[in-house]
Amino acid sequence: MAKIAVVGGGVSGSLFALIMQNKGHDVTLYDIKDNYFKPCGDVVPNVYSPPFPWSVKFRIKNFAFYLDGKRVYDVSYRTTKWISIDKSGWINSMRREIKNQVIGNVKPGNDYDYVIDAKGPYDMDRDVVYTTRAMIRVEDFNDEAILEFDSRYTGFYWIFPDSENVYNVGAGFLENKNSKALLMDYLAKKFRSFSLEDVRGAPISIGKAGNKSWRIGESRGLVFPMSGEGIRPSSISAEIAAKAIDREKDFNSYMSKNLETIERRIEIQRTLLNIYVRTKLPLRRMLFNTFFKNDILIDSFLEDKLDINGISESLRLIKDGGIIR
Ligand SMILES: Cc1cc2nc3c(=O)[nH]c(=O)nc-3n(C[C@H](O)[C@H](O)[C@H](O)COP(=O)(O)OP(=O)(O)OC[C@H]3O[C@@H](n4cnc5c(N)ncnc54)[C@H](O)[C@@H]3O)c2cc1C
Repeated sequence: MAKIAVVGGGVSGSLFALIMQNKGHDVTLYDIKDNYFKPCGDVVPNVYSPPFPWSVKFRIKNFAFYLDGKRVYDVSYRTTKWISIDKSGWINSMRREIKNQVIGNVKPGNDYDYVIDAKGPYDMDRDVVYTTRAMIRVEDFNDEAILEFDSRYTGFYWIFPDSENVYNVGAGFLENKNSKALLMDYLAKKFRSFSLEDVRGAPISIGKAGNKSWRIGESRGLVFPMSGEGIRPSSISAEIAAKAIDREKDFNSYMSKNLETIERRIEIQRTLLNIYVRTKLPLRRMLFNTFFKNDILIDSFLEDKLDINGISESLRLIKDGGIIR
């Protein structure tokens, strides 16, 4: 039995701590807050289920993309492509099961066999995008997820169906830290009437983490920088970390080996993003227009699998009639 401290009880820390506790290890979870909350888009591609289930609030099959204010592409899938989940509810339900918890700004002592860092982006040892999301209630509700790009900036606005008559709407752009102001303008432009239920912001990692050792989740840099998707990679890293310690493997090399596909896909997105940032406006628009003509690339983007294997999977799905035209 190992004595383990987990610092940070978000997606990765809570999941890891509960798996290890259930395997009989002596686990203590440290978090600055006793209740998890972090603003999020709350959507996950429908290709992963965690060992402790989350509740699904909405199933998304329809997508629309906008560029510079114009609708440029839409697609409908035959089966659920993304799910909107109750992320905070899921994490807090795991936290309630964890017997040993220390709340406050407290560092674990040195009597642990393992100290796992799951603090998310909060060490701020990487480039981040300041992102804001609003929960709004509307009468005119549509079941499609919208991603809206502005070719002057790097990032996007989103409108995700959260549950019946409720949208999760957000904004995050590399060049503009005031995502709240951009989001409020966007809401006013897009919706004739709505009631604002909540609006909050948080950073999303897009750069490499300063260090990966003993880290899981976003703390390790496990966020797809083109989409901001971090829930699934953080969960997967927690499951791999649990195996590493339970099977007494060399932790850091086991993590690198088993996260290879995800980390390669993240790296590909970082490279594409760096190219985009340096590209001049007319070429950017050309890149977008090429992207929006390609069902296969869009499908790979929606599941963050922009590598040869991912693109081949998307090709098969589309050949097999997975989308409705
Ligand atoms: C606005 C926004 C929208 C997003 N939308 C999506 C989305 O739609 N889909 C998706 O997949 N991902 C999305 N993400 C990314 C996703 O939320 C994160 O990648 C994911 O939550 C990372 O999980 P984590 O456990 O690694 O870290 P976190 O969930 O950030 O948890 C970190 C935990 O560490 C704690 N902590 C911080 N500092 C300390 C400290 N010093 N000591 C102890 N505890 C500490 C915090 O209180 C928190 O509980 C979004 C992020 C943002 C900001």
